[in-house]
Amino acid sequence: MTARRAAVACALLLPRVAWAADPMLARRGVPAAAIVIAPTAKPDEKLAAAELQEYVRKISGATLPIALSDRRTSVIPSVRIGVFGQAPVEAWKGEKPAPDAFSVETSGNELYVVGGDTRGSLYGTYELIERALDVRWFMPGELGEDVPAQATLPLPRVKFAKGPAFGHVSGIIWGGGPGTEAWELRMRGKVGPPEAFGHNWHNVLPFTPQNFAANPEWFAEVGGVRGQSPQLCTAHPDIVRFSVEAARRYFDRNPDSPLFSLSPNDGYGFCEDARCRAVDALYGGGAGVLSDRFVHYGNEVLAQLATTHPGKQVGIYAYATHVNPPNRARPAPGYATMVAKMPWEFCHVHALADPACGPNRRFLSYMQGWNSVVAHSGIYEYYGHFFVSATWPIVHSLRRDIPLYHQMGIERFITESQQHWATQGLNLYVTAKLLWDPKADVDLLLDEYYKRFYGKAATAMRRYWGRWEEAMIATAAHGDGGYEWLRVFTNPLVAETGGYLVEAERAAADDSEKVRRRVAFVKVGHGYTEAWTQIIEAGLRGDVAGARAWGDEAIRRGRATAGMVPQPVYVYIVESQTPYLVYLASLGVPPWVSLRYP
Ligand SMILES: [Zn+2]
Ligand SMILES: [Zn+2]
Repeated sequence: MTARRAAVACALLLPRVAWAADPMLARRGVPAAAIVIAPTAKPDEKLAAAELQEYVRKISGATLPIALSDRRTSVIPSVRIGVFGQAPVEAWKGEKPAPDAFSVETSGNELYVVGGDTRGSLYGTYELIERALDVRWFMPGELGEDVPAQATLPLPRVKFAKGPAFGHVSGIIWGGGPGTEAWELRMRGKVGPPEAFGHNWHNVLPFTPQNFAANPEWFAEVGGVRGQSPQLCTAHPDIVRFSVEAARRYFDRNPDSPLFSLSPNDGYGFCEDARCRAVDALYGGGAGVLSDRFVHYGNEVLAQLATTHPGKQVGIYAYATHVNPPNRARPAPGYATMVAKMPWEFCHVHALADPACGPNRRFLSYMQGWNSVVAHSGIYEYYGHFFVSATWPIVHSLRRDIPLYHQMGIERFITESQQHWATQGLNLYVTAKLLWDPKADVDLLLDEYYKRFYGKAATAMRRYWGRWEEAMIATAAHGDGGYEWLRVFTNPLVAETGGYLVEAERAAADDSEKVRRRVAFVKVGHGYTEAWTQIIEAGLRGDVAGARAWGDEAIRRGRATAGMVPQPVYVYIVESQTPYLVYLASLGVPPWVSLRYP
């Protein structure tokens, strides 16, 4: 509004120039501007131009030309996308943005999208599309996006600069799935240079018959026997040497990566031999000593690595048996960790800072302990469940946890997230937003989400998701395990929430086809949740045949979603985990008891 008024004022004072008074992107569906990138543009800059072109076309019908020019074209308005100091944004004068960060500013006839690097220019373009062109990506795929229609589109008058809140985010999409990679980029869900911080000992020394035969002592001794566990004996000097060599090979192939992962293979079975116990004894032994042992090992690798690759990090998860901070070992400056908030041990029903939650008090003390000794801290979260494809509404807790992680100065963030978009997708949307704006007003965010995603069905859908969250919170009386919340799955609650979906369908009947499809999409997730609940209920009343029949039905309903974009429930998880739930039900022990952490 201000800009328009200013433009009118100028028109009174200056001789009229056809384009100058009111620069436009599109006029009545006809292109009125160009997108400019450098002739040497990298893939991220080319993608930025293509995405801007695509969304302006979806909004206005006009396909803006993409010009490869390093000269200033002053004939028509332009959106210039590039890296700070380089063509075609070299004329923009301002402070250089950091990597992944950007400044976006309109100056006269030109709109500059200036990245600290090529990724920053792409993220600046997405921020522009979202903030100034009012597009939303609530979910992957065409069904998830909300695009306004406007045939006449002024060149946005903007000025903003922004960078990610966390130093490193390894994505919000973990299990993959159709359409999800594009969504993750649009939500700016990857931050920092690429790295592979995961279970990785199989890349140091694979547990093969040949390697075991070459020297059994390289592998863990468990219960007096070697050859049963694929874990390594980290006190063996050869293992330290192999680790250094593997790190060197990795960094030579990936010079931009800051970190090599030395995280053990998944699971348990760590070495109990005399060599490893001697290392444990250096740190006093007792609870938490496995963490001391791994810090000791990581430090040894770092010391040798520094002769060829100074400044690089090694990373070891704080996970399972070694989630607690070390007793006495002190990580060297290049040591990085990610503390895993395993849902089978800790709690996602309560916020981390909730003093009434015992498991989370324990987890918070672990995080604080690691934070006080390690230079590179990280959090490994689980916001899309690896076992439960049914509803898992934890927005009420993650909206408090992510700001806390940020406040604690956590450097790395990852969420393991399976693609259950019809049952758990809102977790991932809110996560993506909070990772850039930990102080965002989540109530406003949710208001907008319900209004724009569900249209006339907003009130009923809000009741639907709100009821699940409320019921989750009501399961909160838990003792020593993280799975008490499975009590949420009862037939009356499924029936009640199903009623809200019927209301939503009725309300959506005179809304757009897209809104109706979104409600139908959630209904698919509710159908799976119903079958999952029936398995549990059958188990509780000792009806093994019923549990099996509902297990088959759950898999049938899950498989029926194959190929949908995005995945309402992740078929792989449905197929692999439903039989396990049926097995638990057949034991006649409630799953929240059978899954209790030992
Ligand atoms: Zn050992
Ligand atoms: Zn709790």
